[in-house]
Amino acid sequence: MRKKIIAGNWKMNKTLEEGMGLVSEISNMLKDEYKGSAKALIIPPFIHLNALGKLMADNSKLGLGAQNCSNHKSGAYTGEVSTEMLKSVGCEYVIIGHSERREYFNEHNAWLAQKVDAALASGLTPIYCCGETLAEREGNKHFEVLETQVSEGLFHLSASDMEQVVIAYEPVWAIGTGKTASTAQAQEIHAFIRGLIAAKYGADLAQNITIQYGGSVKPENAAELFAAADIDGALVGGAALQSRSFVDIIKAMA
Ligand code: PEP
Repeated sequence: MRKKIIAGNWKMNKTLEEGMGLVSEISNMLKDEYKGSAKALIIPPFIHLNALGKLMADNSKLGLGAQNCSNHKSGAYTGEVSTEMLKSVGCEYVIIGHSERREYFNEHNAWLAQKVDAALASGLTPIYCCGETLAEREGNKHFEVLETQVSEGLFHLSASDMEQVVIAYEPVWAIGTGKTASTAQAQEIHAFIRGLIAAKYGADLAQNITIQYGGSVKPENAAELFAAADIDGALVGGAALQSRSFVDIIKAMA
């Protein structure tokens, strides 16, 4: 079953006090204002997960996610956080392969495939990010790049594991730039990704995969994006740092 998910990736923003204030506001606003069926995810820095998870526990519209995880189960990996640790503080989701991690931390598809495995083994839902750079789009390489990212990161999975995965299409040129892909551009890529999954796993499974769009999603463009046939939600960066804009994006999803 395709789920509607609006995920707020806070990146490296907010102190604990600021984060607690933001989650309380979002939670109260959703209770008062949102009757739809989308799930909203709070994805704060690791260090806030435990406290924020407790704070949102009474609101079933909210879920908790992490921004990254280790590909290892445990051991001598200084600075890393395992999927079991994430699960133990109430995480349900984990972002894997965000373009900032691919670019600044050299995370490549083979390594991301191991993170996907670690997440699934711990019962976490991976949100697997893919997306082309501006140079790749301008060079008309975007379909090829996406096919490589999706197949190398995910296509080792069994069908039953693949069904658990959420994909986020995030064109790198639209992240934090204020430039959103047009709805037609985003829909074209979402349909392409669904087609790749259909070719590998069959049309029924592909129809059930949640594919989020990410890249400068705002209250002003959310409703149009969400109306597209293959867009099942959003991964939101900047606009997730304020309660009003994040809640208005969630409200754009029926
Ligand atoms: C992101 O970081 O995944 C993102 C989409 O950021 P923004 O919404 O700020 O473009």
